[in-house]
Amino acid sequence: MKFKLSLLLLAPLLAFSCSHGNRVPSSEGGLSLRPPVTHPDERAARQKVEDLLRLRYRAQYHLNEFDRALINDKGDDLFSIPGYAELQEARAEIENAQHDISATYIKARKENNQRVIFGIQSALSEVQADASKKVMLNDLLVEMSQDLESEKPSSSEESLVAPFEGDALVNAAVDNEAKISDNLNALMKDASFMKQVTDARKNADREPQSIAPSPGKSGNVTGNEFPSGVWAITYDDGPSGKTSPLVFQNLRTYGIPATFFWLAKNTAAMPGVVKQASGFELANHSYTHAQLTKLGSAGLQKEIVKSTQVHTGVYGYRPKFFRLPYGAGVNSSKIRSLIAAQGMVHVFWNVDSLDWQDKNPPKIVNRVNLQMKARGRGVVLFHDIHPTTVTATKTLMQQWQAEKQQGKRRFLKMSDAIKLVP
Ligand SMILES: [Zn+2]
Repeated sequence: MKFKLSLLLLAPLLAFSCSHGNRVPSSEGGLSLRPPVTHPDERAARQKVEDLLRLRYRAQYHLNEFDRALINDKGDDLFSIPGYAELQEARAEIENAQHDISATYIKARKENNQRVIFGIQSALSEVQADASKKVMLNDLLVEMSQDLESEKPSSSEESLVAPFEGDALVNAAVDNEAKISDNLNALMKDASFMKQVTDARKNADREPQSIAPSPGKSGNVTGNEFPSGVWAITYDDGPSGKTSPLVFQNLRTYGIPATFFWLAKNTAAMPGVVKQASGFELANHSYTHAQLTKLGSAGLQKEIVKSTQVHTGVYGYRPKFFRLPYGAGVNSSKIRSLIAAQGMVHVFWNVDSLDWQDKNPPKIVNRVNLQMKARGRGVVLFHDIHPTTVTATKTLMQQWQAEKQQGKRRFLKMSDAIKLVP
């Protein structure tokens, strides 16, 4: 799936650029966006974009720090490298800010709140007019155009503007490196920016994120580290055009979040099925389901790196989690480093339905129930390619819905569950 920046988003922005060319140069290297109009709602909306831009620069600050430290890297845990913990924190904040801006914009359009629409559009038009800022906010622009498209599918007669991504993004980033560096240097003279940087460091020092991409223990979730009663339901090996949509339907009916670890060979072949999974978390389970411990470098490249690229294109976002086929290679530092280098946490499991072997739904239900009771928390493994799994998990979902309503158990997608790990 290609990301397209539709005219829905761009037309008003371009119109704004033409008619409101009154950007005020700021004292901070032109970074801050000065609102020409000052209605509070509009200011607040503009502020969200400006805050995100600052978050991006904060991440750039820590990235520079990290890159410098890599020269002396002795292969220690990633979190011992300066800047890394702060980058993880910044990344989470950036993603939250992006979701917030996109959701705010969609909501404002629905409610026809012109103040908010104008506030966001005017800030974005300034960002788009400056290639060095546009590089920083590319992810936001992609997310917004995707969200807009999923809200209101573009009709065939609607013209689409060339997306700002791929080679164009790489070129823009390289071409604007000096400008980005200038902007960052200007910001570093700004006390409020440096406070943000030092606060991030304090947070990272005080609360090192226990789950984050790394070849070590912190980069592998088993579910045993979840708080009591917290569960992540996971499905591997799909998608399947026949069974996966039935699983989605059941999960929606019973209100159970889930995470799907899929194969790139399947997602590339079935983007339409992937699209039906909207709202669920999609992750990476390799390209072809090879046993990675038996592969050389080229094979690992395909199964880990190439699969991530394929999934990113089809999912519309980079998967945050990887699960090794058969769990093979979880103790291999080479394999785990490759996964971490792709920015993914490895996800194991602590409850195994063994549904690939046993096609007997009542037995699967019983096996899972016994293990869940014994563990008290964790990650449950199913496969969404078996009709029997559809049946077995439907039964389990009915039970989970009741337990959820009684407050006995919580069900979360992986990225929400790991937030609860102390
Ligand atoms: Zn598998």
